[in-house]
Formats: sequence, structure tokens, C-alpha cells
Amino acid sequence: MAEMTQRQKYDLKRKIEELKKCKGRHTELISLYVPPSKQIFDVNSYLKNEFSQSQNIKSKTTMKNVLSAIESIMSRLKKYKQPPENGIIFFVGHKSVSGDKTEMVAFEIEPPMPIVTFLYRCDSLFYLEPLEAMMVEKEIYGLFLIDRRECTIGVLKGNRINLLKYMTSQVPGKHGRGGQSQRRFERLTEIAAHEWFVKCGEQASEVFLAEKDIKGILVGGPGPTKQYFVEEKYLHYEIQEKIIDTFDTGYTDEFGLRELVSNASETMSSLKISQEKKLMKRFLKEVTKTEGSLAVYGEFQIRKALEMGVVDTILLSESLRKYRIKLICNSCNYSEKRTVTEEELNEFKYPRCPKCDTSNLMEISEKIDIIDEFSDLAEKTSCKVELISIGSEDGDSLLSAFDGVAGILRYPVDL
Ligand SMILES: [Zn+2]
Repeated sequence: MAEMTQRQKYDLKRKIEELKKCKGRHTELISLYVPPSKQIFDVNSYLKNEFSQSQNIKSKTTMKNVLSAIESIMSRLKKYKQPPENGIIFFVGHKSVSGDKTEMVAFEIEPPMPIVTFLYRCDSLFYLEPLEAMMVEKEIYGLFLIDRRECTIGVLKGNRINLLKYMTSQVPGKHGRGGQSQRRFERLTEIAAHEWFVKCGEQASEVFLAEKDIKGILVGGPGPTKQYFVEEKYLHYEIQEKIIDTFDTGYTDEFGLRELVSNASETMSSLKISQEKKLMKRFLKEVTKTEGSLAVYGEFQIRKALEMGVVDTILLSESLRKYRIKLICNSCNYSEKRTVTEEELNEFKYPRCPKCDTSNLMEISEKIDIIDEFSDLAEKTSCKVELISIGSEDGDSLLSAFDGVAGILRYPVDL
């Protein structure tokens, strides 16, 4: 499957958030992971078996809830001849709402990566760990450790470190063993070291060139050898360009790889947010302009600008938790739209119709996450959408100073 778009990632994140909140009164929430290679027929027989076993559950309500969840999954399975490309996950069950009440929830999720193991679980919570693990950014970094004695080549994929090559050198130590003239010894040592670096450079280049999407290379090792190696450009020029930085490590073996990743982690997370920083900087620069500013912010203005099709990029805070709802009066058909926060929605007081003033309250006929609403509007006019993550300085100022919604216009417009 192609890389998920930001939007798809966001939608999936929100679904996971929602699923996390579901609690069963007993063990009655079913999570089912079906790998792409699994036959639907086999899944069905598995469920049939679970169905008959669940009839032994002591509590009547729990049994009823489990059985109806299994039935619901089985009927949903009917539309598949085979699992989708990455398999399919079902989260189905009765979550507890208020008091004694429960409410049936059913999610069908096509994961961003192939499911590896078939898994059925019935618990009081949904089993989300395998799905969450797929959400971790799978960025690839090259890892390279070197000194005059050892060289280790590896890659970091997501959180996993793979050792790919380990080599040791024949370069003698710095001090002569006597017998030879010191100068001659030193010259031979330097030749041996040079050959060692050439060999390491070639091997590392070969390994890293074969990895397609390497984001950057982290170089480590004790002492100054690593800097020398980088400065003398022993790596292929394409790989050389990807070097992020050098980091001190105590070891140059497999253990050193872990050291390298932990010492470089701060640098790597700042790389990730540097893209967001750039965008926020561009926006803030526009905000301060007194004439011909391209900045636009706040929900109302952004919506207007999007409808006019004049926005180049919108920046949305990932922690915006707002919904756009449509209220409708069933007597006179009067409708209006409002934006409400998640909390407001949870305790929503339905208003009376301002037009006909019947005793019936208005109803919510549409509800959309405001990030989805803006993304839809943006798509229509090929405006770029960037989600700014929470917890960063930029993300926080976007949320607090600009309502979590900002944009950069294509040209100055009076709104
Ligand atoms: Zn009305």
C-alpha cells in the first residue's frame, strides 16, 4: 500500500482514540485481526467455533452481547471474497455508556501495513497494540560506527535496529613494536588505516545505497576517527550528502548502534519538527506584515478563504477537537450550522427552533470533525493541508494564538 497521507493518518489516529475510550461492562469487546493471507472461509469457521463456545458464558447479558458481536462480524465478513491487501481488523462489541446502558460499536479498519498474525480477542477493552505499532513512523536511518579497529553498519527502521555488517581491521596500534624504524612504522600504519577506511566506506555505501528511503545517516564512534572519516569523504557522494551528524559512542559494535540511536534521538526528533517549524515561520512572517499580508487565521476567516479558493496552505493543529454540526428543525426545515468542542457536544443542549418555535427541539443532522471539513474544502481547490503536531512550541502557539487554524493565501485578499 502506498504511504498513508497525513489525512488518513489523522483519521486513523482519531479512530484509535475513540476505540481506546470504549469499555465493556464485562469481557465482551471483540478484536479480530485477519492477515491478508488468511482465507475468509477459515475465519468464518473460527468464528462459528467461538460462537458455540460463547454459549457457555455464565452471565446472560454478556453472552448475548458476545454472540451478537460475533454475528455482526460474520455478516460483515460476507462482503469479502478475500481479505484486502493488508488484511482487515474488526473491533465490535457493546461498550458501556451511562448507568446500565450499553451501545453497540463496530469498526472495520484496513490497516496501513500488512497484519502478520491472525488474532481473536474478547476482552473488556479493545486490543489496539498491533494497530498502534503500525502507526509508528517507519522512517529509515543509516547507522555507521567506525574507529581504527572496528566498523559496524546498521539501519534504524521505526524503533527497530538491524545490524547489517560488522568488520574488524588489521590496522596496527599507534605505537611501534620496536625493531622497525618509528617513521616507517607510522607510514605503514597510515596506509593500512587508509585502506581500512576505503573498505568501510565502500561497504557502507553499498549497504546504504541499496536501502531506498534512507532519511539520513548517523555516524558514531569514540574519538576523532569518525570526523576524519566524514571529512575525508570515504562514503559515496550520495550517501555522504545524507550524513546528519557525528555522535560520540563508547563502542563500535552492536551495542554501539543502540548508543548511537539514543545519543542522536534528540537530533532526529528535531528534524521531524523542522518541516512544521518552517511552515509556521512562513505563516508568522506573513502575520507581522502590515501590507500585502498572506496570513489568514481563525475558523471563520479560514472557512471563507477556503470557499473563495484563495488559500495556498492551511495549517491545522492536530489537537483541534471541534466538530461542525448542522442543526435542523423537523417542523419547518430551518437549519443552521455551528462549531462545537468535544466537551460541548457531550453535554449538548438542543435548542428550540428560532423560526417556528415549536415545542420540539432541533436535532443534529450532520456532524463532521472540523479537520475533515477543512480538509474537504481544501481538496476542492488544491490547497495543501498540513497538520501541526501537538507538544511542539509551534503547535502550541498555533492552538493558543490562532484557534488552531491558520493559512497562507495565494495572494493578498480582503476578507
Ligand atoms: Zn422550525
